Amino acid sequence: MLPEVLDTMLQSLQEVYGNPSSIHAQGRKARVEIERARRIIAKGLNAQTSEIFFTSGGTEANNAILWGCVKDLKRSHFVSSALEHPAVLATLDALVKYQDIRVSLVDTDSQGHVDLDHLAFLLQQNPQSVVSLMQANNEIGTLLPVKDVAALCRRYDALFHSDTVQTIGKFKMDMQVLDLDFAVASAHKFHGPKGIGFMYVKSTSYFRPFIHGGAQERNMRAGTENTAGIVAMAKAFDMAQKQMDLRQKHIQELKQYAIAQLLSHIPGIGFHGDAHHHSLYTILNISLPERFPGEMLPVLLDMQGVAVSGGSACASGANKGSHVLTALKSPPERPAVRLSFSVLNTRSEVDQFVSILSAVDTPDANE
Ligand code: PLP
Repeated sequence: MLPEVLDTMLQSLQEVYGNPSSIHAQGRKARVEIERARRIIAKGLNAQTSEIFFTSGGTEANNAILWGCVKDLKRSHFVSSALEHPAVLATLDALVKYQDIRVSLVDTDSQGHVDLDHLAFLLQQNPQSVVSLMQANNEIGTLLPVKDVAALCRRYDALFHSDTVQTIGKFKMDMQVLDLDFAVASAHKFHGPKGIGFMYVKSTSYFRPFIHGGAQERNMRAGTENTAGIVAMAKAFDMAQKQMDLRQKHIQELKQYAIAQLLSHIPGIGFHGDAHHHSLYTILNISLPERFPGEMLPVLLDMQGVAVSGGSACASGANKGSHVLTALKSPPERPAVRLSFSVLNTRSEVDQFVSILSAVDTPDANE
C-alpha cells in the first residue's frame, strides 16, 4: 500500500465508523464516503456509478459475473482459454458441474495470444455465448486485443467478460470504448489494500445477487460494506489514474533494463509470453536454463531478500506446476521465475536481483 492510501484507510477506520446502512449521522457519513469512492472509480472508467459494485476482490467478482450469466442471463455456452486465472477456470468447472453449461477453450499460441479466427469460429457455432478472456495474463503478461474481441462478441451476440484484475489501475480504461459487459478489479494490484475490489456490470447486462442477504450494493451484493477498504481503494485508484503515465514509463524502463541485464549476464535465459511487445509492463516471466535449481530457486532468492513467484510447467501428473506454462508447452525442466515490478522498484534492485541470480548460477552454489 502506498503511504497516502494507508493514511486514508487509517483515517477512515478511526473517523468513519458508522454502518453505511444506518440512518444516523455516523451511518450517513459512511454512506457519503462510499458513494464518493464509487464516483471516483466510475469516472475513471467512464462508466455510470450504477455500474460499479464493490466486492471482496477479483475472485468474488468473477464468480458473481459468471454465475449471473447462467442463472439470470440464461447463457449456457462459455468461450474461455486454458490460460485464465483459477478464479475463472475453477468457476467454470463448478458451473459445468452444477449447471447445465458447456465450455469451449479457444486456441492460444506459444506466447499466449488468443487465436481470433478460432474465437470467431466458436462464436459462430455457438451464438449467444459468454466470452471470458483476461485482458492481461497474470503469469506471463500477454495482452488481449480487447476491442477486437468485443467486436466479435457483438457480431455473434455474445456477452463479453474480461478478468481485468491485472490491468485496471495500469492502463487508462474507457468502458465505452472497450465495450465490455463485465470487468473486475482488485485493489491490491494498484497499491490498495487486500480483500477489496469491484466489478463493472454494464447496465444492459444486470444480473441478480450472487451473495444473498441485506440490500447493500443496490441488492446486488449483501453484507455490510468494508468502508475503509472501499475508501482506500478509491484513493489508490485515483492516484493510479493521475500518475499512470509516469508510473508506466518508470516501470516499462525497469522491465526493459531487467531484460537487457538478464540477457547479458545469464547465458541461455529466455522469457515466457510476448515479453518484448504485447505484454503487461509490470510482469516479466523468466525461463531459466536447466542448470538452475528448479523448485528451490524462489526459496534461495527469498533468503537473499528477493520476493518472486516460481512455477515451471507441469513435469508430471503429481507436480502441479503452472497451468499457464503447461498450456504453452514450456519445457518442464526449465525453471520459471515471475517478476512483478512496481513504481516503488529501482534499477539498483534490478542490479541486485541479477547479481544474486548470477551467483546461484554456479556449480558451487547449487551443491
Ligand atoms: N484474476 C487475476 C488475473 C488475478 O491476477 C487475481 C489475483 O492475483 C485474481 C483474479 C484474484 O483476485 P483476488 O485475489 O482479489 O480475489
